[in-house]
Amino acid sequence: MAEPTVKINVSNPTEVARETLRRLAMRRIAPTPDNYQTLYDEIVGVPSAPANKATAETALAGLVSDLQEHHPALSAQVASLNKAIGKNDWRQCSWQLSEIAVQLKPQPVRPQAIEKAALPQDDGLAPLRDLLAKTLEFGVASQLTHTPRLVEQTQQIAVAVREAGSAAALLKAAAGLKNLWVGIELQASDAHNQQETLKRILLLLVENIGELLDDDTWLRGQLDMVQEVVAGPSRIQSLQEAEKRLKEVIYKQGMVKHGLREATATLKATMTTFVSRLSDVLAANDEYQGKISTHVERIKGTEDVVELNRILESLLDETRSAQADNRRAHDQLVHERDSALQAESRIQQLEDQLAQMSALVREDPLTHSLNRRGLDDEFARESSRADRHKTPFCIAVLDIDNFKVLNDKRGHKTGDEALIHLVKIAKEELRLTDHIARLGGEEFLIIMPNTPLDEAAKIITRLQRSLTKKYFLDNNEKVLITFSAGVAERTVGESQEASIGRADSAMYEAKHSGKNRVCVAPAATAEAG
Ligand code: GH3
Ligand code: MG
Ligand code: MG
Repeated sequence: MAEPTVKINVSNPTEVARETLRRLAMRRIAPTPDNYQTLYDEIVGVPSAPANKATAETALAGLVSDLQEHHPALSAQVASLNKAIGKNDWRQCSWQLSEIAVQLKPQPVRPQAIEKAALPQDDGLAPLRDLLAKTLEFGVASQLTHTPRLVEQTQQIAVAVREAGSAAALLKAAAGLKNLWVGIELQASDAHNQQETLKRILLLLVENIGELLDDDTWLRGQLDMVQEVVAGPSRIQSLQEAEKRLKEVIYKQGMVKHGLREATATLKATMTTFVSRLSDVLAANDEYQGKISTHVERIKGTEDVVELNRILESLLDETRSAQADNRRAHDQLVHERDSALQAESRIQQLEDQLAQMSALVREDPLTHSLNRRGLDDEFARESSRADRHKTPFCIAVLDIDNFKVLNDKRGHKTGDEALIHLVKIAKEELRLTDHIARLGGEEFLIIMPNTPLDEAAKIITRLQRSLTKKYFLDNNEKVLITFSAGVAERTVGESQEASIGRADSAMYEAKHSGKNRVCVAPAATAEAG
């Protein structure tokens, strides 16, 4: 085989030594001191002197110290080489030298070579491997939370990269990495499809609501904008814009509800008028009948033509006016009936509109806390997060004390305002990561992620205390609102129903032991999940 010629600086002993080793390896010559000497001389251009073992040994020793100084990474192999020289074990010496030659040779890495080579821990790649592992763990895995399978795969590769002790292990991790990219690409197109489908559903919903809106141009305008924003490319700003628009729709929903109450009141008033008109008509008819009978009697009792004429005339008058009354009453009745029908259909329409909108949104329009649907979403989100990290989180069920009394004493509207007040104070007291949802009536649920049980109980007690400071004002009159609460820690894997059930029982315990207090639910039993 032709030996590639390499330009050597013969005044540099390290270079000469490296080239000597290279040639020994290339020519598969036993690296005896004699052979080493011969090749060394050949390289520096000295005519081959008779082999001198002592000189060669000195040269080898020089090589050893040279390697020790300049190639600490090879210290293990150099030490073995040194030992072999000392023992005159030229077989071992030869093997070590070819090992060192392979390591020193600046050549493109062949996979077979990598397969065999062990990676020393200070190979200079360690920081890079660590960097790659961290990128995978903190950069990549966190982007894949919706596909737990890929998260797991990413974490496994990160561990493999970090622990790769040999080039072979690193190659294997690299293959895993390739698989992961393929997985991510597939998932990305899945996610894209999903997003597109969701967008189409949202568009359909928005379109439908538009149909129901009739001529409410303000709402229609808002929904058109939502539609436009959703139909466009989904950038985060446009989605935020859509959210803002929907919130305005929710606000308008509150107004619609108000309209609904008014329409109901109108219908009631109309019905009342209808009935009283009807009885008027009947009464008028009675009166007419009565007059006719009187006239009939008068007609029977007289023979006087003049008198008869007079009776006939007043009879005609009365009939005419009764007829006019009747017509007027009839028209009136038709009119009342029409407006009753109109009010009824308006109510139907508003109710439909309300139902549609409620289904679309996650917020309770009165208190702006989450509604049932919002609660379900957040609970599911927190559960999966907690299950992933194997951490518990806490929930609290709150029920306002003696709310019926407050309603009865101060009216339903004041009751509503008290509910709004409670949610406002709770939002001020809780952390941004906590959630408050209205379970119904005067009952609320608070979700406290990443919170141990004792701390959760403290948070709810603190909320109770702050309600005594930030009291509710009804017509400038301080009204103290208190609540009873049950706090429970949701254990890993426990269902929403089971954990809320436990918090609810604790809340009932608080009610039964005197109200205005916080009770803690006992830990979930294994089968409760
Ligand atoms: P307790 O201390 O045992 O909880 O008694 P309470 O009076 O608070 O409880 P109860 O369940 O007897 O009454 C709850 C009342 O809450 C009855 C209902 O009229 C009223 N309520 C439910 N939803 C609303 C609402 O949206 N607004 C108003 N103002 N009142 C509501
Ligand atoms: Mg209640
Ligand atoms: Mg109550």
